[in-house]
Amino acid sequence: MFTLFICETCAKDNESDLINKVEDLLISFSREVYCDGQAKRGSSSMETNQLDDMASLDVAILGGSIAGLLAGRELAEEGLDVSVFEEHREIGIPEKCDGLVSAAGISRLGVVPPSNVIQNTLKKAVFFSPSLREISIDANKQNVIVMDRSKFDKFLAERAAKAGAKIHVGCRISQYSESGSRVFLKIESESRPCKILLDCGGYESYISGGGRALQGGQYLVCGNWFEKSSVEVYIDPDKYPGFFKWVIPISSDVAKIGVAGDGINTFQLLDKFAKEKDAQVLRKMAAPVLCFGTLKSFLKGRVVRAGDAAGQAKPTTGGGIFTGGLGGILAGKAAARAIKENNPDTLSSYEDEWRSQFGREFSLQGRARSFFSKLKADQVDRLFEMVASSEIPKRISEEADFDSHSIAIAKAFGLANIVSTFGMFFADELKELIGR
Ligand SMILES: Cc1cc2nc3c(=O)[nH]c(=O)nc-3n(C[C@H](O)[C@H](O)[C@H](O)COP(=O)(O)OP(=O)(O)OC[C@H]3O[C@@H](n4cnc5c(N)ncnc54)[C@H](O)[C@@H]3O)c2cc1C
Repeated sequence: MFTLFICETCAKDNESDLINKVEDLLISFSREVYCDGQAKRGSSSMETNQLDDMASLDVAILGGSIAGLLAGRELAEEGLDVSVFEEHREIGIPEKCDGLVSAAGISRLGVVPPSNVIQNTLKKAVFFSPSLREISIDANKQNVIVMDRSKFDKFLAERAAKAGAKIHVGCRISQYSESGSRVFLKIESESRPCKILLDCGGYESYISGGGRALQGGQYLVCGNWFEKSSVEVYIDPDKYPGFFKWVIPISSDVAKIGVAGDGINTFQLLDKFAKEKDAQVLRKMAAPVLCFGTLKSFLKGRVVRAGDAAGQAKPTTGGGIFTGGLGGILAGKAAARAIKENNPDTLSSYEDEWRSQFGREFSLQGRARSFFSKLKADQVDRLFEMVASSEIPKRISEEADFDSHSIAIAKAFGLANIVSTFGMFFADELKELIGR
């Protein structure tokens, strides 16, 4: 069965463009897609006294991506009236993620991605220093997969819709405000009340909440220099300050290449890299990378942030599929409980739970970032030389956890020779990182 509602307020484009968009939607998202017909043209204010004839949603979710869709699934499974509002007209588009995740992390989100979502399995990570010294880590034990994020998000939307959540595409919540026991959403010129709002709006929400991000870019390329099962990471504080450049293969000849850093021109760097490697660029995308940790609080009254909106992306890599996805699940569970018990105070259990699972790891990863961001290119080279000739790569290969890698970093830097070499310059960061 397929149901598609397009509301007037969301149909901004001219007719033929709209028909094209609808056709795209029909092809790519053959499940129940709703665009709410209740947001009618003509009303122009958010005054609460104009809302009498509008049903209040139990929970509204701003953002139809990982965090929002997993939260929607949780709430719908609890039998609540939940709507997910996604500003783009198609779930998963534009795709702005490499989809690298551990199989263990994905299974903790309670999903088994279908085979068409999984693009590759990685067995090795090769790190390059500024002068191209290499450290190779065997990633077999970590069971890391590469997903097609666009397809994965559609899969999550189907799961949420099947559970009973309503998915409204092409609907931007332009504003929200809390008044009494309701949060009022502004969608186009209309307003809509809900009991709880989950803000899963990604980096825009994070930035508006006081967070900051690095400029990031990602290309899909066709080339022949990489190995299918090996991810490449290039560290160079002069070229990519505060972050790194990466290559994530999805087949023997197609890869996602990306870069992020402070004040860099990502497209220029990726164009140069593609040219050096004689790669053909198939797609270009720019998006901020979040790696500065969480917002101070995930909650404000009846508004709850989850996923990137709360800064739940790993400070070392900016990866947020697992940690932000779990944020969405925990936020959804807490919102369901708050509605059922008619007690918004219980929402705080969500933040407690998320921080008890990830708070320490995020703090250690933040310290590792702080340490690395102070190294100069020649120091990175020296560090690579020392690590490559030590037991560290072997130990990391055997013991590291893809999602909680601060322990591996701490162990690595716990080796006496590294502490004594770098401790002179970075004593505080090192002591904190290795817990001394
Ligand atoms: C280049 C790049 C590569 C990455 N690679 C990886 C990776 O390999 N592995 C990994 O784990 N993580 C990766 N990440 C991070 C990952 O993409 C995010 O952590 C994850 O997508 C966060 O999910 P989210 O649901 O919190 O937010 P988002 O995925 O950002 O989704 C937010 C949604 O909200 C919608 N929205 C925003 N405002 C409104 C509004 N006002 N009204 C309605 N809708 C709205 C947006 O359109 C969007 O769909 C990468 C990020 C980047 C930028």
